[in-house]
Amino acid sequence: MSGSPPKDSAGPRDGSPDMKAKPAQPVHAELENPQLNNSVRCDACPVLCNIGPGKTGSCDRYTNVSGKLTRVDPLVIAQRMHAQGSPLVPFMAGAESWSGAVLPRAPAFVTGIGAGTTYPDYKPAPFIVASRHEGVDLVTVVTEGIFSYCGVKVKVDTDRHLGPEQAPVRCEGEPVGHVTTAEYGSQMLSLGGVRHLTGGSKQEGRVTCKALLDLCLKRPVELSVDGGARIVVQAGRPPIVDGEIERRMRVGCGSAAIGIFAKQWHGHADEVIVVDDHITGVLSEHWAGRYLDIPAAGIKVKGRRSTPGRYFQVANPGKGWGGTDITDPLGIVAGVDRKKAWPGLRLLMVSTTGEDAAYFVLDGQLKPVPAPLPAALRTVVERIGENCEPALCSVLFMAGAGGSLRAGVTENPVRLTRSVKAALTRVTSGGAPVYVWPGGGITYLVDVTLMPEQAFGSVPTPALVAPIEFTLKLSDYAEMGGHMGNVVPLEQVLKRERVRATPWREDNPWPLVPPKRSDAD
Ligand code: SF4
Repeated sequence: MSGSPPKDSAGPRDGSPDMKAKPAQPVHAELENPQLNNSVRCDACPVLCNIGPGKTGSCDRYTNVSGKLTRVDPLVIAQRMHAQGSPLVPFMAGAESWSGAVLPRAPAFVTGIGAGTTYPDYKPAPFIVASRHEGVDLVTVVTEGIFSYCGVKVKVDTDRHLGPEQAPVRCEGEPVGHVTTAEYGSQMLSLGGVRHLTGGSKQEGRVTCKALLDLCLKRPVELSVDGGARIVVQAGRPPIVDGEIERRMRVGCGSAAIGIFAKQWHGHADEVIVVDDHITGVLSEHWAGRYLDIPAAGIKVKGRRSTPGRYFQVANPGKGWGGTDITDPLGIVAGVDRKKAWPGLRLLMVSTTGEDAAYFVLDGQLKPVPAPLPAALRTVVERIGENCEPALCSVLFMAGAGGSLRAGVTENPVRLTRSVKAALTRVTSGGAPVYVWPGGGITYLVDVTLMPEQAFGSVPTPALVAPIEFTLKLSDYAEMGGHMGNVVPLEQVLKRERVRATPWREDNPWPLVPPKRSDAD
């Protein structure tokens, strides 16, 4: 978990984000004499910790080794085990047997993990690495960015009502984000962002930073929604809603389910109602039913009719059938049209995941009477379940790299932004592909599950630390005003002592491919 109290640090002792916390030595004294008391001043972030021998700074990322400021974690190199389908490392049984030593023959990509940060920003990035691919000289600018402007977008696959839109989401009682839109089978949460990190109380900033870090490190985080549920969110794992593990993501809305399964129900039921908090579907009224010449059944449904066979607001949101608060499906039936319905009418009611289903037959008074679910209908209900994908939490880290971080890449930062927009510079995070938002700046999203382990850190300003790499042609780098005097060959980086190799994720695109010159150029 992030934001833990610093261990043995001569910097801010409580892991607090308070920039006014008094360091053990006045910063100006350290600036004049960084070797005071054999401590070293870490200038990797604005906290400017004074670190005594053998101690670590406030973020546990830097230490003092014999008077030398040293990044605690090694630089992570991602290497490909296969090229064009054949193993480059035939003696290896698999990634798990990899010792972490650099493999001389395997293509290597220097990630920002463990690279360190530079501060103030005009200093060149920690690693500016030259390599040659397909006969083209490339350069990769590698750093760990410190992001005050960052957060996570979380997609929680569930039908259950987590809370009203815009409701605050809390962690340890502190507001860390809010509920946003309900998407197709998922509820979106927006967590973090500069306002929670810096705009609230010190505790709010600290807890927000800790929650973001844990989510980015793929750890479980317990959250509560005002007026809603308690949820445990973990990247790549099923959500836990009020203590229950969510297993299925809906096959579709109620109307979609009617559209998909109408033909399979035809002849086995006279009416099917798919209960959904958003769009409840009614087979005999729906265009799918009419197309199959299914006669009107006269079962009236509560709520607001949108189009034939599609009803909104049949109940309140909740944790019952199809994300409603309904536990008895007949609760959404407003009545029976005696001119259309008939005794013996067969009614199936089912939820959007197929987890809930009930079968009724109308008696002589046209009252629905529960009856055993016939085998043919059970098969289709089970097929709804079969078509549900596993419910998961997805965590996308979102950050703005369009600010001062760019100065570590080039003396003319806007040239980097333009180069990214023109697809001349490829942006990756720990080697994982990112999505760069259109418009100004370099605001990107990355799926944390595509990144290597332990890719993130934090500093107590508070802010998250995330790896970022910019890969472009060496000639373009020179043209944009890059720090050419700091370019080092890849081989030199691989020979460093504190380097750890990790297997490249073959489902990620290999970034060391010469970027194509775009039309915009
Ligand atoms: S908190 Fe900042 S100054 Fe202190 S050790 Fe970490 S990176 Fe260095």
